[in-house]
Amino acid sequence: MDAIIIGAGAAGLMSAGAALDSGKSVLILEANAKPGLKILTSGGGRCNFTNRSVTPHEFVSENPHFCKSALHQFSQDDFIQMVEEAGIPFYEKTLGQLFCQQGARAILDMLLKKIDSPDCTLVTGAKVSTVSHRDGFFSVCYNDKTATAKNLIVATGGLSFPKLGATDFGYRLAKQFGHKVTKLYPALDGFLFSDSDRQRLKGLEGISLEARLTCGRRSFTENILLTHVGLSGPAALKGSLFWSPGDQILIDFLPAMADWHAWLDQKKRTDAKKTLLTLLSSIMSKRLAAALLVPTKLGEKRMGDLSKADYAQMTGLLKKFHFIPKSTAGYHKAEVTRGGVKTEEISSQTMESKQWPGLFFIGEVLDVTGLLGGYNLQWAWSSGWVAGKNLRPHGV
Ligand SMILES: Cc1cc2nc3c(=O)[nH]c(=O)nc-3n(C[C@H](O)[C@H](O)[C@H](O)COP(=O)(O)OP(=O)(O)OC[C@H]3O[C@@H](n4cnc5c(N)ncnc54)[C@H](O)[C@@H]3O)c2cc1C
Repeated sequence: MDAIIIGAGAAGLMSAGAALDSGKSVLILEANAKPGLKILTSGGGRCNFTNRSVTPHEFVSENPHFCKSALHQFSQDDFIQMVEEAGIPFYEKTLGQLFCQQGARAILDMLLKKIDSPDCTLVTGAKVSTVSHRDGFFSVCYNDKTATAKNLIVATGGLSFPKLGATDFGYRLAKQFGHKVTKLYPALDGFLFSDSDRQRLKGLEGISLEARLTCGRRSFTENILLTHVGLSGPAALKGSLFWSPGDQILIDFLPAMADWHAWLDQKKRTDAKKTLLTLLSSIMSKRLAAALLVPTKLGEKRMGDLSKADYAQMTGLLKKFHFIPKSTAGYHKAEVTRGGVKTEEISSQTMESKQWPGLFFIGEVLDVTGLLGGYNLQWAWSSGWVAGKNLRPHGV
């Protein structure tokens, strides 16, 4: 056997298919009772398997250039072609996101069909406990058994969604072989409010609206959802990828209104007798507008009476609302883990360790994290494919 792959998730299964295509034989060891559990859960069960537009800008890593080669060698178009050839119907949602029409199972079945070969053995319920290296070979222990091969592909994923079998095994293994691991954070999980913000925004749970959310230098204009504990929805999930403890989140509740002061000036003239709250209710959720304005008493003011100081106060509440989250929602909600095995000692062309020939890290375990929108699975496909194509031949 040419390679042992630890983890039968998106990256591991893809690397197995690519290895088989190159005439190699593989053993896949998966701790869960079934392969590909995260694929089945992804995209709300419909698997947002890639995106029409994939650029390095959609990925976060200490080395933003690292992802380029793999994404180029096996691109979103290559994966779309695989899906089309398998006859899987799919559709495009907003922002180029591609989903399966009849569910994520189709993607997993496609990957499993690709590895259905006498040269591939998939063992489920096989939790790898230790790995050692001797005379150019990796020995892997699982369930009181040992397997040995020239190549070892670590496709163990991140820490998110522990209920789907997430473990820190890949990070521990990396450290065992002298690789560094960056700080890890749950990401694409949204935010939790501090106790005082929870109090301030009480009663607003369930409100969902399009807003512009800014975290650091990144802004997202998409839906946000207020929950009883914090902020969710695509814009909040995306923002959480760029958030570090202590960072402020800025929200524009009226993103379509470019010249807010001009709108106020005009309403002052045309609707001088109406209250601000009445007018705001026609362009945003009344419940939200009332909750934001009540503490200031601005809501009851007539438009004609608004002063420039009132304008500034309203701008702070509606266009530049800010808060400092207590934290992000946590690994049980996170779609991914931000950070991972440092890329400096990994070849960006092949995903092979620069220190240990034949040792590969692929998918989420690496310090490459994509935005919401199909990018994390595309990274799993791309990194898995290049590793599978670049295994060391026997005896070299
Ligand atoms: C709810 C949810 C929805 C998502 N939706 C999308 C989406 O629509 N689009 C998108 O692009 N991304 C999505 N993601 C992210 C995406 O699913 C992951 O980034 C991707 O699956 C990572 O693939 P992977 O192969 O690296 O890791 P995983 O898919 O996590 O696979 C790792 C595998 O390794 C196994 N393993 C771990 N340790 C051991 C061990 N010691 N021995 C043996 N096996 C082990 C695990 O059991 C697991 O099966 C979603 C994530 C979640 C949690």
